[in-house]
Amino acid sequence: MLAKKAFYFKPANTTVMSLPLVLGSKPASEKYDVIIIGSGPAGLTAAIYTGRARLKTLVVAGSSWGGQLMLTSQVENYPGFPEGVLGPDLMNNMLKQAQRFGAEIIFEDAESVDFSKKPFKVVAGGVAYESLAVIIATGASPRQLGLEGEERLKGKGVSNCAVCDGTFFKDKTVVVVGGGDSAMEEALFLTRFARKVKVIHRRSQLRATKILQERAFGNPKIEFVWNSVVEEILGKEHVEGVRIKRVDTGEVSEIQCDGVFVSIGYKPNTDLFKGQVEMDEKGYIVAKDFTETSVEGVFVAGEAKDHRYRQAITAAGEGCQAALDAIKYVEEIKHRPK
Ligand code: NAP
Repeated sequence: MLAKKAFYFKPANTTVMSLPLVLGSKPASEKYDVIIIGSGPAGLTAAIYTGRARLKTLVVAGSSWGGQLMLTSQVENYPGFPEGVLGPDLMNNMLKQAQRFGAEIIFEDAESVDFSKKPFKVVAGGVAYESLAVIIATGASPRQLGLEGEERLKGKGVSNCAVCDGTFFKDKTVVVVGGGDSAMEEALFLTRFARKVKVIHRRSQLRATKILQERAFGNPKIEFVWNSVVEEILGKEHVEGVRIKRVDTGEVSEIQCDGVFVSIGYKPNTDLFKGQVEMDEKGYIVAKDFTETSVEGVFVAGEAKDHRYRQAITAAGEGCQAALDAIKYVEEIKHRPK
């Protein structure tokens, strides 16, 4: 099939704090031992392992490569970095490491897959690639509140990424919706710029880990609005406020603000695989025996299957597991008597 123009040279992904410069190479062929879909810690770790095992590896990295760590600043809990490491730097290093072992990377979104027959087919950038095995490592994306103003005012005060957009809120008042680790990290990061950060949470207790709770409670710029949900995001051209409702009393009130950061968890990026592999009711891919999906030869790693741990390090670990399983599977096929 004729290739649509693909990205083989990938510039910086977002307005992240460090600017990765990533060189991809034009895929040498359309047939691979393994195709890895996704380029977060799960996908790139898998690529390091399959590349190092001399499997011909293609990573379909996506037009926004690197996953959620590209949108974070300092990562403090990834082992091996006692002073912490910037998320984009970590991902850039993983990508270089995968390339060092021969993995080919294309910065295209996978458009369709066919796992109904072998070799498996993955279409990306208008090109149909074939492989003996596939590793799904497509991760997850921020969940939305589902409010009309959320979509309409995106980029006009509504955001899911403090690291990307926080700088636009110097001396302003912003709200953060959510009570988990992500919401606390967003709130803390926003205090670098904003005059006031109001965290709106639907319960009276945070879900976030203790260390982040302590930091948030100890930050004088952060204020908590408990037992409340956002019913409406106000503003015509840009965010002017939110209308909130107390879940215990039903009382409705308004908070004036210039920005709304929605940080209420994630949803797996698995729509592409509907009807191809078994999923649960929330769209997470069902894995049996660690990384095997319902299709023999298709493996899964990271947040496409994991709604429990969701850490960069657990994703990387699962990427390693999926790669080891894929390596074994491919070797068995290759050495099977014809
Ligand atoms: P999360 O732990 O699922 O928290 C989501 C938060 O949003 C919860 O407080 C939840 O309220 C609230 N929420 C969900 N739906 C809502 C809705 N429709 N309206 C209002 N509020 C809603 O998600 P997360 O914070 O993104 O964290 C996900 C995982 O990543 C966790 O395992 C976390 O530990 C991990 N993580 C770790 C770090 C770190 O270690 N530095 C950083 C970020 C994330 P309830 O509490 O009432 O359910």
